[in-house]
Amino acid sequence: MLKLKKINKSYKTGEFTQHALKDVSIEFRKNEFVAILGPSGSGKTTLLNIIGGLDRYDNGDLIINNQSTKEFDDRNWDAYRNNCIGFIFQSYNLINHISILENVEMSLTLSGIDKKEKRQKAIEALTKVGLKSHIHKKPNQLSGGQMQRVAIARSLVNDPEIILADEPTGALDTKTSKQIMDLIKEIAKDKLVIMVTHNPELAKTYATRIIEFKDGSLISDSKPIKKKEKNNGEINIKKTSMNFLTALNLSFNNIKTKKGRTALTAFASSIGIIGIALILSLSNGFDIQINKFEKETLSQSPIIISEQAMSMSEENIAKVVEESNDLEKYPDEDKVFSQDDIETTMTHTNNITNDYVDYIKKINQDNISGISYQTATNFNIINYNEESGYQLINSTNARLMPWSLLPTKKDGSSDVLDANYDVIAGEVDTTKPGLILQVDSKNRVYASTLKQLGFNDAEEVSFEDILNKELKLVLNDDYYKKVNNFYIPNKDLEALYNNENSITIKVQAIIRGKEDKEVLTSGSGIAYTNALTNIVIENNKGSNIVNDQKESDYNILTNQPFTEDETKETILSYLGAETTPVAIYIYPKDFESKDSIISYLDKYNENKEEQDTIQYTDMAEMISSLTGDIMNAVTIVLISFSAISLIVSSIMIGIITYISVLERTKEIGILRALGARKKDITRVFNAETFIIGVASGLLGIAITCILLIPANIILENLTNLENVAQLNPLHAIILMIVSVSLTLIGGFIPAKLASKKDPVEALRTE
Ligand code: ADP
Ligand code: MG
Repeated sequence: MLKLKKINKSYKTGEFTQHALKDVSIEFRKNEFVAILGPSGSGKTTLLNIIGGLDRYDNGDLIINNQSTKEFDDRNWDAYRNNCIGFIFQSYNLINHISILENVEMSLTLSGIDKKEKRQKAIEALTKVGLKSHIHKKPNQLSGGQMQRVAIARSLVNDPEIILADEPTGALDTKTSKQIMDLIKEIAKDKLVIMVTHNPELAKTYATRIIEFKDGSLISDSKPIKKKEKNNGEINIKKTSMNFLTALNLSFNNIKTKKGRTALTAFASSIGIIGIALILSLSNGFDIQINKFEKETLSQSPIIISEQAMSMSEENIAKVVEESNDLEKYPDEDKVFSQDDIETTMTHTNNITNDYVDYIKKINQDNISGISYQTATNFNIINYNEESGYQLINSTNARLMPWSLLPTKKDGSSDVLDANYDVIAGEVDTTKPGLILQVDSKNRVYASTLKQLGFNDAEEVSFEDILNKELKLVLNDDYYKKVNNFYIPNKDLEALYNNENSITIKVQAIIRGKEDKEVLTSGSGIAYTNALTNIVIENNKGSNIVNDQKESDYNILTNQPFTEDETKETILSYLGAETTPVAIYIYPKDFESKDSIISYLDKYNENKEEQDTIQYTDMAEMISSLTGDIMNAVTIVLISFSAISLIVSSIMIGIITYISVLERTKEIGILRALGARKKDITRVFNAETFIIGVASGLLGIAITCILLIPANIILENLTNLENVAQLNPLHAIILMIVSVSLTLIGGFIPAKLASKKDPVEALRTE
């Protein structure tokens, strides 16, 4: 079943070639105790290593199961070592950082046997060698003889057909040697045991066959196999593999033996993580604060579509910057140059059409808390008081007051009102014609506003008086008298005031901006309910004056041709024929709503000529995009600094892993002897760096969380903002992944080097 055919092996050291084995041919029986005798340096260990598949022969052949091993690949050799061969070494070769039970389990672990069966078999083997009560000890807690027993138990546990022992008693005293030899003799009952020794006494006492070596050649064999002798027997080779959990466990135990160093390494490499985590927490915190501010305040500021839109688009800004860059700085010329007005470069004239208004009306109502449309139609309101008599309040200047129309939804309700204003007197009902008086935070309105309501030169007016005040709205057809072919305003205000067509209007309510909404709601003035504007618009549309103006080619109010500043349309608009608004205020419900409103507005401009597009002004966006950009820039710069420390730490991990590889060379040899594949060795070291990576990531995150406490206290003192710095859990996870990946990359080359180590040389190192 095992046969060596003219095996040669030589070692080259520099110029010198050592011929360790010369044409060695031996055939072994399935069951015998062979002693290999020979002086030191005669090639005994080399022979054993070749038989055991630890070392490769130069030429000749090793026949297993009548099959040549010339075509064996690494996998075959690993499997062969794992389940056909049990090694016993002079220096025991146990892994020091795991228990003797785990040492014995190792070769079973490599062959992928399940946990329970593995434990049972290992305990069985340890019982057989008389160490049942020591199974949880570490190797260095045992005597030499006991350690060799562990090694024997390990060699037996997989029930291999062949046991190879290289001077197993070489390091033991005579008495212990005898015990060990008895144990081996016992094993040899049903196995092939090949034992190297330089002690002829031992060989004669225990072995059934003695083979002598000298200078790499076989010089005698006490019981060679005869030609006719039957020597069949199968060796069963199963493939091995170590799973990652085993590798983790192995490395974890190893790391436990050097806790201090691991902790320091993990700490050092966590510094980069801490840096990045802190920066991310801060910028994340500020982002949250900015968002909160935007949500609370800025998002409620309306998107304004007016005749002139500020268009601070990147394009426009770039244009302005480019233009000024092209010019010479501090010129010598004695000239002053003209520069385009900001209005020309930064504004866009919107032509708000009925189409556009229809488009706006189709905005998803769920996204808005209100829309107000400003029209430039004139209102004729007459007010009476005893002191000054009848007064005309002309309210075309409504267009100058953005707040003068209460933003409402289709059903007349107004979230804007509810969210931003306190009603301090009366009741708002937008479905009825009426006025709403807004006072400022000190309950003030301008004297001119009070005058419009009929309170001339009043220092103060009670809420009651204001709510009781009656005003008359006069329709255009009553207000304008037709004289010949044109219209002039009726000067008889008393008659108009008492005209039965005139509509009585009152101040419905007095409102004041909520205390925390001052940014949006400062200012004062009169607002008109929708119902009021609708009455005026409806009446104006069908009025005689409008119809006459439509027919006429001159200004019907002046009986003159249209001047340069006016057209028929402007006059018609003034008279209320046109209801197209001059401005539209859209109040978004919240931040997300604003985004969708904006994309809805942008959609209108798709595929349109520049002059036909309708631009809107979104102050909130201008402010927040600027702050957002600055934050992002600062974050990127700071993170790049911290990233450098991450790179440094991964180089450090590489060095640490390399040192670990050097330290664990022996272990690599042992694992390889037990049948571990090169891949498995890589895994062991990757597992080690994985553990360090996870540890440094966790440590980094934990330290960051602790540092955030004082950081937030300091920030609270500086900015009055509570808990600004917050680590986003997603960032924490990403940093963990970064930490593990970087350490794995750092340890990758040393791990590969480890797997390439020659097992024979690895076993030789101390
Ligand atoms: P033994 O076990 O009989 O003492 P070895 O098989 O260890 O002898 O060594 C046989 C010869 O081969 C010795 O001369 C030894 O120096 C040489 N040798 C063994 N291994 C190596 C190696 N890795 N490199 C160089 N020479 C080696
Ligand atoms: Mg030797």
